[in-house]
Amino acid sequence: MSLDFVELAAPGVRGLQPYQPGKPIEELERELGLDSVVKLASNENPLGPGERARAAARAATAELGRYPDGSGHLLRQALAEQLAVEPACLTLGNGSNDCLEMIARAFLTAEHEAVFSAHAFAVYPLATQAAGARARVCPARDYGHDLEAMAAAVGERTRVMFVANPNNPTGTWLERAAIERLLARVPEHCVVVLDEAYHEYVTVPGYASSVDLVARHRNLVVTRTFSKAHGLAGLRIGYAVSDPAIAELLNRVRQPFNVNAVALAAARAALEDQEHVARSRALNSAGLEQLGAGIAALGLEAIPSAGNFLTVGLPRPGAEVYRELLARGVIVRPVGGGYGLPRHLRVTVGLEAENARFLEALGEVLGDGR
Ligand SMILES: *Cc1c(COP(=O)(O)O)cnc(C)c1O
Repeated sequence: MSLDFVELAAPGVRGLQPYQPGKPIEELERELGLDSVVKLASNENPLGPGERARAAARAATAELGRYPDGSGHLLRQALAEQLAVEPACLTLGNGSNDCLEMIARAFLTAEHEAVFSAHAFAVYPLATQAAGARARVCPARDYGHDLEAMAAAVGERTRVMFVANPNNPTGTWLERAAIERLLARVPEHCVVVLDEAYHEYVTVPGYASSVDLVARHRNLVVTRTFSKAHGLAGLRIGYAVSDPAIAELLNRVRQPFNVNAVALAAARAALEDQEHVARSRALNSAGLEQLGAGIAALGLEAIPSAGNFLTVGLPRPGAEVYRELLARGVIVRPVGGGYGLPRHLRVTVGLEAENARFLEALGEVLGDGR
């Protein structure tokens, strides 16, 4: 009889399904023997990082033999200034994903629960399950978060609530007033995590960051990332803003040197390059319009989005359409499975020509099958 290591694994790990990343460009190019694959699958900035961040990253490679500054002092200083918070409120992560994991590790055990919405970011169920905690998943309302239901789901044992604003994969957003009502209602023993990964892209009225609310609500943690609008997904860097007491707990479970030296330098330069952020936001707004118009012209409906992606309703299973788009060299993101949207696909806003290529391929695929 061979040994079953799954039986030996921690209870939370036994039933875990690994996170499914977007398909890499090189992989599809190898499979198809093509060299012109378009990837609109991981909500990356099609411009990548700005020149200043690129230059800072190159310069940082001169010191690769040294460990990075484990406290990320200079970056935390720069962030503190820009966000008008104390440096003691900031925790740096290897991507904001790392911050979400730290929060789960610090607050969730088999005795505890986490509350989040259906169709929310896949890392919330993963981090909850890995900690062995129970997930309380609230049904969505118009694809978005039903904050009333989420507040009502908080019990004695609820230690964490995950809220994505805007949400991935639906693109739905929450207005400032709704978040203030939520925070007034959730008891302090439940840490409310507001995930603002797409913050820099948002232009809709009524939305505002919740960073300034951290000073008034000790149980609020806001997470942000350099992976999206700043274009640094490949370097893995993000951060959490919280009360210093929570930051101190996160620092206990944070791995030493969790953020690398190149990422620290590039992020600091990216923060100063607000022109690049503005350029990225403008390109994204134009791309959202282009994709929205093209999708409507195909007789389809997309969920209104405040992020850098659109999730499109389809007349056929999304997994099928996904595979047929792959065959045409276009990678998007299926959102059945873990996301519970089997008749949708998520497409990231790309460059104008990439968006056009997606729309053309989608038209062909649906034309063939209808
Ligand atoms: C992309 C994304 C993140 C985090 O990405 P990192 O690269 O780990 O910073 C976090 N939350 C949501 C909702 C996202 O879509």
